[in-house]
Amino acid sequence: MKIAILYIATGRYTVFWKDFYLSCEKYFIPEAEKEYYVFTDAKHLDFDTKPNVHLYYQEKRGWPYDTLLRFDMFLRIEDELEKADYIFFFNANTKFLKKISPAEMLPDDEHDGLVASTFDWTPDKFTYDRNPKSTAYIPYGEGKYYFRGGVNGGTKDAYLQMIHTLSQNIKTDLDNDVIAEWHDESHLNKYLLDKNPLVLSHYYCFNGEKFINPLKVKIVMQNKSLYKFGGHKYLRGQTDKKISLAEYCVKRLLKRLVFLFPLKSWRKKVREYCREI
Ligand code: UDP
Repeated sequence: MKIAILYIATGRYTVFWKDFYLSCEKYFIPEAEKEYYVFTDAKHLDFDTKPNVHLYYQEKRGWPYDTLLRFDMFLRIEDELEKADYIFFFNANTKFLKKISPAEMLPDDEHDGLVASTFDWTPDKFTYDRNPKSTAYIPYGEGKYYFRGGVNGGTKDAYLQMIHTLSQNIKTDLDNDVIAEWHDESHLNKYLLDKNPLVLSHYYCFNGEKFINPLKVKIVMQNKSLYKFGGHKYLRGQTDKKISLAEYCVKRLLKRLVFLFPLKSWRKKVREYCREI
């Protein structure tokens, strides 16, 4: 069985590659033949001489285009992807913690050939795109799951069909000067709205949520806000200034104590200020 793995690491996101590759090789369906298609502006990455690692030059386009235009990137290598049985995308900061079997993550016809990870949210929390001008628009009251952009995949045919549609939808939006609320993730949610994908719980895309049994986590998204990565804005290249230790500590503290602010509007401002932590 052949699995094509799509991975984007432009700018400072290359910092995650080593952990991703090593953990994926070890834990993600180890019996499969995996090929890694890495879109990066780096000249070299660790393991780039391995026969299953393929680097494609991708200039850094800036936020949010580095992630929004991902489907166009993938279509550049459609001929390569045609050779696979399954195709998966993982966010750069993905790290596998436990062995994953084919039955856990490979979808079949019953799932329309697709698989995606979810947040454990109630529908009132869903941040679907609510702008009727966007092709990603979903009206209130619709949708059973909120899917994350960071871990998804499918059979070769189903996934290729999806990325063709999403690439076109994003182009249409850009022609109309529209960018969906959560970029590629909003478009993914719209696409999956009338499909029946294999739904992965938050244990397959753990992002530091509370009230979760840490022993059950299989895939973790490394915390991009850690001081060692310089701050999320620095990581995305939105600033060249790393977060200072003082600012980092203040923001972490405020985030924990946000419940102490009596007014909702104040809490909102504090959350906004601490967003990159
Ligand atoms: N990405 C990248 N370089 C960037 C920004 C994003 O390579 O400067 C890629 C990377 O694969 C990342 C994905 O786009 O995992 C999604 O971006 P990000 O993680 O910042 O979005 P979030 O997880 O915050 O939605």
